[in-house]
Amino acid sequence: MSESSKIRRDANLNYPFENTPEPGELVNIVKGVNWLRMPLPFSLNHINLWAIEGVDDWTIVDTGLASDETIELWQAVHAKYGSSKPFKNLFITHMHPDHIGLAGWLTRTYKAELSITRSEYLTCRHLLDYSHKEAPQEAIDFYRAAGLDEEQLENYQSQFGGFGKFVRGLPHSYRRLTDGQIVKMGNHSWLVIVGSGHSTEHACFYCEELNVIISGDQILPTISSNVSLRATEPYENPLQDWLDSCQKLIDELPADVLVLPSHGKPFVGAHERLNGLINEHESDMEKLKVECINPKRAIDVFPILFRAKIDRNNLLMATGESLAHLNCLVARGEMNVTMDDNGVNYYQTKSEQGA
Ligand SMILES: [Zn+2]
Repeated sequence: MSESSKIRRDANLNYPFENTPEPGELVNIVKGVNWLRMPLPFSLNHINLWAIEGVDDWTIVDTGLASDETIELWQAVHAKYGSSKPFKNLFITHMHPDHIGLAGWLTRTYKAELSITRSEYLTCRHLLDYSHKEAPQEAIDFYRAAGLDEEQLENYQSQFGGFGKFVRGLPHSYRRLTDGQIVKMGNHSWLVIVGSGHSTEHACFYCEELNVIISGDQILPTISSNVSLRATEPYENPLQDWLDSCQKLIDELPADVLVLPSHGKPFVGAHERLNGLINEHESDMEKLKVECINPKRAIDVFPILFRAKIDRNNLLMATGESLAHLNCLVARGEMNVTMDDNGVNYYQTKSEQGA
């Protein structure tokens, strides 16, 4: 989902809101913009959602995971706040299950209209279609190339297609969001800023008038968003997409913007945080260049990138993230990758020219 195994803290962030919302309660942030939380059954135990009140209706941003518990909380929120004004609009930042899980249920139950970027919508549809199917050979080969052993590959195959467990359907039509578009949420205009790397076409929503950005997983205060290479697009460079997106947000946002992230607390300090993330990834890649003077597999570099122990629960995420860093170095011409006779990729730093 959104959490990488890396944990980072920035000392320079300022958190203006002490108290987090109780389940089923809204906490007002700025005019018309309200914060609510839904539980997650993971080590990352919550997601922040946003409810924006207009004159005639509510706009909801993200939904929480598909579970009976989350549905009950939504029913409580609707009973308390939605009786006089309808939940008319549902905006989704990206298609990870904690963000989109109840989009189908919310749009059906409250007749809300879904707005999402095309790539996030179609990727979600595609993953729902894959649910309960067998892992394709290309995906097994992808993880074998990264160095997973037979037992780990069997475990991957047995868990394949779990996406549908946490996503309860999608409506069959939607309003498409695009980068640079202006949308109305509540009584204000918001600019759609699209980022990539954590997810393919992740929408953030920036309101200049309120000086607030709903950042999804694109800017998080304490955890580093997972940036993974995926089996469907093994030649892509999601880490460079991510670094470019961080820089784009620095360029587009004022330094004192209030960031409303999907995990953690609202904070001020977007530039510091984004610069910190860029620097960490660049420094990780410098360490990888040293580590890979002798050829290494993706699974060999976990100790360089992660402090946490990698076990079967976070193995795929760690593998995807290691591959994203290694692929970025290959794309920059700093590393070579060679496949051995067993279909396993070895990454080696290129020697200095003339050395
Ligand atoms: Zn996410």
